[in-house]
Amino acid sequence: MNRLSNIRPNMSRLWASLMRSAEIGKTAKGGLRRLALSEDDAVMRHEFIRWCEEAGCDVRIDAIGNIFATRKGAEPDTKSVLVGSHLDTQVHGGRFDGILGVLAGLELVRTLNDHGIVTKRPITLVNWTNEEGARFEPPMIGSAVFTRQKAVEFAYSRLDRDGLSLGDELARIGFKGTDAVSADRFDSLFELHIEQGPRLEAEGKQVGIVTGAFGVRGFVVEVLGETGHVGPTPMPARKNALVGAAEVTLAINEIGWSRHETGGKSTTMRIRTEPNLLGAIPDHVEMTCDMRHPDESVVIAMLEEFKARLPALQERSRCEISIKESWSYGGMRFDAGCVDLVRQSAEALRYSTMEMLTEAGHDAMHVAEYLPTAMIFTPCEDGLSHNEAENVTIADIEPGVNVLMQAVLERANRSG
Ligand SMILES: [Zn+2]
Repeated sequence: MNRLSNIRPNMSRLWASLMRSAEIGKTAKGGLRRLALSEDDAVMRHEFIRWCEEAGCDVRIDAIGNIFATRKGAEPDTKSVLVGSHLDTQVHGGRFDGILGVLAGLELVRTLNDHGIVTKRPITLVNWTNEEGARFEPPMIGSAVFTRQKAVEFAYSRLDRDGLSLGDELARIGFKGTDAVSADRFDSLFELHIEQGPRLEAEGKQVGIVTGAFGVRGFVVEVLGETGHVGPTPMPARKNALVGAAEVTLAINEIGWSRHETGGKSTTMRIRTEPNLLGAIPDHVEMTCDMRHPDESVVIAMLEEFKARLPALQERSRCEISIKESWSYGGMRFDAGCVDLVRQSAEALRYSTMEMLTEAGHDAMHVAEYLPTAMIFTPCEDGLSHNEAENVTIADIEPGVNVLMQAVLERANRSG
């Protein structure tokens, strides 16, 4: 064993950082409500920056508020290895989703400092802006701007429910940065995250080696009917948009069920109806839907099936039904070299592992389009996430943190 393979993070120090974070935006039920660009997000960002600067990092903020904190390497002109995730949370979020990946990176830097280790390449910690999309849609907007998949002006124009824009809120909390941080400066990205599902825990595995991502299709379905009195309007004369919405929901549910044995999933997750009044037949519905499958070609087929079923759904409901807006992400495999580093690190540390795809969205999926990328999953209690009860123990996360450290050290010491 070489010297570096014996280096271990200080888990109690990492836990203390996680618990400090758990105080910022804490909910009555012990979870977190730290929405992107809120006061609490600002407090957490300042705390993170203070920690990074104390650890000797050079901190930069880009135009979308992503925070990059770089620890120098011995060869400063080489591209930097990115390590990180997100510090924002869901409305009823937990204490570890995203936060673990950022603060494990910080612990990595602190540990290298403790041992006086200088890697060849710089290591850059990253906190991506608005990963969750709980306040501003779409999610993962910081990494989308970073990889130029979305224009920064588009991001600035996104509004929250109170009509406040992302751009104004970013400026208000002082995180509309001026640094032109380009993806070209970086070598690779490693993101550690809780699994957010039950598989690792159920099979008693310590580390998830994430080899890629489910293909995801999201879309907004619009249903147009005709309003009228719920009393006198004869049944044959009705065009109730909620009936159309019901047909859509059932069809989407069936499309997921018919592929569930190969991992297919489908959801109608949000509905808005108008006029939404007592006594009035609804004439307008917008519903937001989602389809996922491990195989990109199958998720494409799922969406095509839905489109093919639209005429029948329209006929049965007597409403006009169309797809108004759609988006896609995932469906890729992570970089074979980076995944292999994760695999080898886990093997060298003698951890039990499971190779898996991520079913949730992560910034790593955007970054993977530009940089060699890998993800590592840790188990979480009952697979629970996006929930205030989300929980892990030090024993749950220690293997993943160790694997992150070893894989990043290997990558940061690689020549070229
Ligand atoms: Zn997350």
